[in-house]
Amino acid sequence: MDNTFDAIVIGSGISGGWAAKELCDKGLKTLVLERGRDVVHNKDYPTANLHTWELKHRGALTEKFRKDNPLITKAAGFGEDNKHFFIEDKDHPYVQEKPFDWIRGYQVGGKSIIWGRATQRWSKYEFTAPERQGYGMNWPIGYDDVAPWYSHVEKFMGVCGTRDGIEAMPDGEFLPPFQFNCVEQHMSDKIKEHFPDRHMVHARWAHITEPQEIHIQQGRGQCQARNMCMRGCPFGGYFSSISSTLPWAEKTGNMTIRPFSVVHSILYDEETSKATGVRVIDANTKEVTDFKARIIFLNASALNSTLIMLNSKSNRFPNGLGNDHDLLGRYVAFHNYRGWASGEVEGFEDKYYYGRNPTEPIIANFRNLGERDTDFVGGYTIFSGAWRDRGVHFKQPAIGAAYKLSQTEPGGWHVYMYMQGETIPKAENHVRLSATEKDQWGIPLLVTSVGYDDNDEKMLQDFLSQSMLMMEKAGVKNIETNDSKQAPGLDIHEMGGARMGTEPANSMLNKWNQVHQCKNVFVTDGACMTSTGNQSPSILYMALTARAANYAAEEFKKGNL
Ligand SMILES: Cc1cc2nc3c(=O)[nH]c(=O)nc-3n(C[C@H](O)[C@H](O)[C@H](O)COP(=O)(O)OP(=O)(O)OC[C@H]3O[C@@H](n4cnc5c(N)ncnc54)[C@H](O)[C@@H]3O)c2cc1C
Repeated sequence: MDNTFDAIVIGSGISGGWAAKELCDKGLKTLVLERGRDVVHNKDYPTANLHTWELKHRGALTEKFRKDNPLITKAAGFGEDNKHFFIEDKDHPYVQEKPFDWIRGYQVGGKSIIWGRATQRWSKYEFTAPERQGYGMNWPIGYDDVAPWYSHVEKFMGVCGTRDGIEAMPDGEFLPPFQFNCVEQHMSDKIKEHFPDRHMVHARWAHITEPQEIHIQQGRGQCQARNMCMRGCPFGGYFSSISSTLPWAEKTGNMTIRPFSVVHSILYDEETSKATGVRVIDANTKEVTDFKARIIFLNASALNSTLIMLNSKSNRFPNGLGNDHDLLGRYVAFHNYRGWASGEVEGFEDKYYYGRNPTEPIIANFRNLGERDTDFVGGYTIFSGAWRDRGVHFKQPAIGAAYKLSQTEPGGWHVYMYMQGETIPKAENHVRLSATEKDQWGIPLLVTSVGYDDNDEKMLQDFLSQSMLMMEKAGVKNIETNDSKQAPGLDIHEMGGARMGTEPANSMLNKWNQVHQCKNVFVTDGACMTSTGNQSPSILYMALTARAANYAAEEFKKGNL
C-alpha cells in the first residue's frame, strides 16, 4: 500500500516541480522520484554567503578537476562555487556518436538551481513557422492555448521585464525590470533609429524585483542583485523548484519526495493499455522497487525522459513506450549558440553604474517572422549587454601592487551580443540506447547522434554580419566576431525525442502531452518539443506542464485515467 500513489512525477527540476505543485494543489497524492541527493532551500547552499577569497581556490578549478571533468567544466558559469550542483563526468557516461555536450545537474531541484533564468514567451510565429515555411511539423497547439498558462507560471514564479508590445516576443505578467545602463540605452536607441523593426529591450527574467503576495506566501523575497544565483539564493530571489514549487507542493501535505531514486522504466499493463507505475533502482543500494500510480508525469529533462521511455520495454512496446513507429528518440534539436560579437564604445567615460544586475537586454528575433526573408529558415534572438572594464590600460601581468592600483580606475566600455538560434528538428538527429554499454545501475547508456546542418551555418553567418552591422551603426569600435564552433548540447537547451503532434502516426504525444498510445503517461519537459523556436525554452516547459497537470487532474477526478 505504501508504494501506491495517485500520481508519480519523475524528476524534481524545473518541469517536475511544476507537475508536483499542480497535482498536489488539485489534491492528488503525488510521489516525486529524483535520482540525485536531496537539496533543501537555504540549508544546502554551502557557498551562498562566501566571498571569493573564502573559497579554497578563490573560485578557480584545479587542473586535476578540469582534466577529470572535460565535459562538465565547459558549462556556462561552472566554477568552484557551484560545482556541487552539477554531475561529475565519470559518474554519468554516455556515448557521443557525434560530439554532444550533455550538461546535467542531478539533485532535487535539477538544473533549476543553476539555470540562467531567461524566460521570454514564444510568439505565434514560432508555433507556426515550421509548417508554414516547410521545415517541420505543425504543433497540435498554438500560442493562444499556452498564453493563460504562461500567465499562470509567470505570476507564481515572478518574472521581471517590460511590456513592449512586440509581436515576436509577447508581453506577460511582469514585475519591474532592472534598468539598462547608459551604453545599453545608447545601443537600444541606435538600433531603433537604424533598424525600425529591431527591438533591443529588457529580456524577461525569473527574478522577483517587487515581491507580490503570492511570493511572500512562498517565503521568497526580493532579488538583491548579488549575481551569485548559481550558488542558490538565500532570499529565493530567483525561481528554482526548491525555493518555490516543491515547498509549495510539500505544504499541501500531498507530496512525498524520494531522492536517490533512479527511474529505470515505466511499467505497462497490456490488459488495460495503461502504465501501472514506475521501476526504481536505489542510487546507493541498487535495490529495485516498483511504485504504482494512475498518472505518470515524465520530467527527467529531455534526453533522460527519452531514455526512460526507450528503456520502458514490454511485449506491446518492444522498442520503448508508445514507440510503434521508431519516432522515439528522433527529432532531437537544440539552440545554436555559436555566434558572439563584441566591441568598444567611446563617449561615456564620465558615466558609471551602481551595483550589479543579474539580467541582460535582448534583441527580439527579426528574421522569417511572417514570410521567409533569408536564405535560412527559423529565427534567432540575441542577448546583449554593456559593461565597464577596470584597469585595462595596465599592460603588465595581472599581479602586484601596481596592478591592484590600476583596478581602482575605471576602464573603457564594452558591448557584446550572442545568438540563440532555432535549429531544425530532423529524424537523423537522434538518441538511442547503447546495445552493449550500461551505467552503474544497469541501465543502457544513451548514444547521442546530433549535429549541425547547413541551415545552422547560414544562420550563424547572418548573426555575425548583422551583429557587426548593428554595432557599426551604433558607433561601436574594434568590433570582433567569433564562431565558438561549440558542439550541440552546450547550449543546455536540448529538446525533442518524443515530439507532440496531432497524428499518432508521426508524433509521440498529443496536444495534452499524453503518450498517444498510453494516455496516463504525460511527457512535459523538453522531450515534447515539436520545434525549438528561438526563445529560452524552460518557461514553455513550465507552462505546458501546468496545463497538462491540470488536465490530468480533471481527467483523474472524472475517472478517465
Ligand atoms: C548554466 C545553465 C543556464 C541555463 N539558462 C537557461 C535560461 O536562461 N533559460 C532557460 O529557459 N533555460 C536555461 N537553462 C536550461 C534549463 O535549466 C533547462 O531547460 C531546465 O532545467 C529543464 O527542466 P527539466 O525539468 O526538463 O530538467 P531539470 O531541471 O534538469 O530536472 C530534471 C530532473 O530529473 C532528474 N532525473 C534525471 N533522470 C532521472 C531518472 N532516471 N530517475 C529519476 N530522476 C531523474 C534529474 O536529476 C533532475 O533533477 C540553463 C541551464 C544551465 C545548466
